[in-house]
Amino acid sequence: MNQNLSPAAKASRMDWKLFQPTVQQYFVENLFSLAIIQKQTRTKIIMDVLHHQINTKEIPSVADLLKKNLPSVLATTCYNDLNLPFDEEVRNTEIGHLFEHILLEYLCQNRLAKGAKRATFSGRTKWNWTRDPFGRFHIHLTCGKKDADILPIALEQTVGLMKILLAYNKDSFSLLNTNSLNQNGLKNGERRC
Ligand SMILES: [Zn+2]
Repeated sequence: MNQNLSPAAKASRMDWKLFQPTVQQYFVENLFSLAIIQKQTRTKIIMDVLHHQINTKEIPSVADLLKKNLPSVLATTCYNDLNLPFDEEVRNTEIGHLFEHILLEYLCQNRLAKGAKRATFSGRTKWNWTRDPFGRFHIHLTCGKKDADILPIALEQTVGLMKILLAYNKDSFSLLNTNSLNQNGLKNGERRC
């Protein structure tokens, strides 16, 4: 069938294929799943938290653990309803928003490690549990095809740190009071380094 297409039509079909975003699935047993859609200039991640900890207030040691494992993430810029700096916000924030900030930090670090003099990445985390399944986050990042080399590394590092943070309380299982959680919201982050 392809033989009947003009060269231009063949080329446009190839371009179309090239620009189809691919979805990569990442599953971390018992903790969360990620669907990663990398587009030309941005990346979207749909995160489904499978764990009982959906907010960092369930992890009292979160700030100490970050200080120990990735202190620079506490200095990332955060735009939230109460205008809290991230090192305060982090004590009571949604897991998806924490994931976003850690990923922004690792993206910056990897960009610098590849020789860039400076790097800026920003992100946005949205959720709406009246519409979506409980625990789903939509994370948008200014990380496009040109960052395709560092995204897998940064994701791997982020998942590694999230495992440390979330597994910390695994023996003291507590039922969530979902009424105290914001059913929907939007928070932004940015990292310049
Ligand atoms: Zn933020």
